[in-house]
Amino acid sequence: MSTSLLSHAFGLTDQEYLKTEYKQGTVIFHIKTKDSKLRCSSCDSRNIIKKGTVDRLFRTLPIGLRPVYLLAKVQRLQCNDCGLIRQERLKYAEEKKAILIE
Ligand SMILES: [Zn+2]
Repeated sequence: MSTSLLSHAFGLTDQEYLKTEYKQGTVIFHIKTKDSKLRCSSCDSRNIIKKGTVDRLFRTLPIGLRPVYLLAKVQRLQCNDCGLIRQERLKYAEEKKAILIE
């Protein structure tokens, strides 16, 4: 797996590959949004400060017979323009490329 394969095979163009985990017959790709793509989810500003991450598990397309999950390090972001602290927007979840499990 690689950042390039995430982009070309799964359509996750703004995600960075971290590592792969094989667990009970499943494949789990650990990913995070590329720093250059992080924006305030309210006003779209890039004038943001990272405030930690939350792990979220998504199901995505299988590879062969193996179920594939994405473990996303979802960023909490503080916006210096609108003042809000929110989680980043996850385009792949909005576009249904991955379904939130937990
Ligand atoms: Zn903002």
